[in-house]
Amino acid sequence: MENEEKSLNFIEEIVEKDIQNSTHGGRVLTRFPPEPNGYLHIGHAKSIVLNFGLAQKYGGKTNLRFDDTNPLTEETEYVESIKNDIRWLGFEWEEERYTSDYFETLYNFAITLIKKGLAYVDDSTSDAIAAAKGTPTEPGKPTPYRSRSVDENLRLFEEMRDGKHAEGSKVLRAKIDLSSPNMHMRDPLLYRIKHAHHHRTGNKWCIYPMYDFAHGQSDSIEEITHSICTLEFVPHRPLYDWLIEKLEIFPSKQYEFARLNLNYTVMSKRKLLQLVNEKYVEGWDDPRMPTISGLRRRGYTPASIRNFCERIGVAKRENIIDVGLLEFCIREDLNKTAWRRMAVLDPVKLVITNYPEGEVEMLVGENNPEAADGEGSRPLPFSNTLWIERDDFMENPPKKFFRLGPGLMVRLKHAYIVRCDDFVKDTDGNITEIRCSYIPESKSGEDTSGIKVKGTIHWVSALHAKTVEVRLYDRLFNVENPAAEEDFRATINPDSLQIIEKAYVEPDLLQAIPGKGYQFIRKGYFTLDTKSTPDKLVFNRTVTLRDTWAKEVNRG
Ligand code: ATP
Ligand code: MG
Repeated sequence: MENEEKSLNFIEEIVEKDIQNSTHGGRVLTRFPPEPNGYLHIGHAKSIVLNFGLAQKYGGKTNLRFDDTNPLTEETEYVESIKNDIRWLGFEWEEERYTSDYFETLYNFAITLIKKGLAYVDDSTSDAIAAAKGTPTEPGKPTPYRSRSVDENLRLFEEMRDGKHAEGSKVLRAKIDLSSPNMHMRDPLLYRIKHAHHHRTGNKWCIYPMYDFAHGQSDSIEEITHSICTLEFVPHRPLYDWLIEKLEIFPSKQYEFARLNLNYTVMSKRKLLQLVNEKYVEGWDDPRMPTISGLRRRGYTPASIRNFCERIGVAKRENIIDVGLLEFCIREDLNKTAWRRMAVLDPVKLVITNYPEGEVEMLVGENNPEAADGEGSRPLPFSNTLWIERDDFMENPPKKFFRLGPGLMVRLKHAYIVRCDDFVKDTDGNITEIRCSYIPESKSGEDTSGIKVKGTIHWVSALHAKTVEVRLYDRLFNVENPAAEEDFRATINPDSLQIIEKAYVEPDLLQAIPGKGYQFIRKGYFTLDTKSTPDKLVFNRTVTLRDTWAKEVNRG
């Protein structure tokens, strides 16, 4: 295990104690319970790493349970994407379950409660129910339906199931305590009527269990030992325990941790769906989205995301994590694994006047200088006409400019030292050509020139360059907490995507491997876009080489 040295987090402490006390026979079974109403995001990754990680650490297992109790917002497309994302993150579940598989069992649980006099059918409108609930400082009042007999409740609940009642006309409520200081205990709703088509059960059901009546009971049906959820469910825990106790079913236990909040993004599925539907982004997998599919398309690796989740740890109090930490984690990973390549994003021509016209020399560059064996190398064609970055040349360079300018020398990566002798401008004053001479004895790896230069720049042979599109991404929002704004869409960063339609890359990048990270030397980490075609290669920038935001947000 990666973090054996680290001290235990509070959930691991609980699990270890349970194992010592042989609670549930020392068995550990967790679950990850997404609602299939959207794609998974980085916050879900936190929950996945926690649930699956705990099980792995303690020899347990994790179920994947689709919490599909809301027929209106759920779709099979989401189910598939969720499974795909979990596997991509590197986890495999024990069983794939659906809360909808338990509808019959849950219905029978409700009957049990009714028979025990612990649930009743209420005909009040939702407004009337809310009004009668009281406030945290004032007790609630019973509605006229609270005293219905068991027989009447059984009959009405059956009628609800049989579709004899209109939506909103009746609900099933638990009969607990209308003066409880915990509002969730004031006769919470257990079932509502919805005449809607469900993505798995079709039209079989027209009553659907509420979250509180489905979640804990599903945990119990699966004999989940540790049901981990986020802090907003702390006030639901007494109800979770009450239902299990009254139904006399398997005693699953709920534990809560602080959800992951990340700055400069939004994480609620509702808001993410809005970004997609209103076309602020290309889709759920737009590389600017905090979704797993977006991060994958952007070039994030599963290891970097798992590492990020481990690093932020498991907290009991809400906090906001700097997205810079996520970027740090992917940089750290790609620095070790990305293959180095040369790409010129803003090209200007460089001509080597003393290099024979038409001659081509095959130089080599190793793939990965961070790997002990370099992971092989690729050929780098060199000729007398190259593309270099426009900003690697200055007509009037300041003192410490160690790149090209009149009379200045620089090394071309994996190639020779060149000296700038002259340059050409067009009538508008734009530099169109930089004229240099090269030092034949300065070839990389066999340099006998004795010349020392301070700068090295990247280049691509003009004759061999391939044209590709490059997409540079920046944060999607201009403010740290867009969700706190009146309209989060008003804070979208208009410059979050910059498209470079014609960048020149070395020919080897035609064989770029999907899903692999490439470091474009001096330019950042890039990956082939999944929607790229052989006729038009597109590269996404995953992250810059350095944290360019550090100064602005004062991150030290
Ligand atoms: P949203 O509000 O975005 O729809 P959700 O919590 O309703 O999110 P679910 O599909 O119900 O989404 O979540 C599945 C699991 O992932 C739950 O156990 C939930 O606690 C957890 N989860 C969701 N968001 C986060 C987050 N930001 N940090 C940690 N865990 C999260
Ligand atoms: Mg939810």
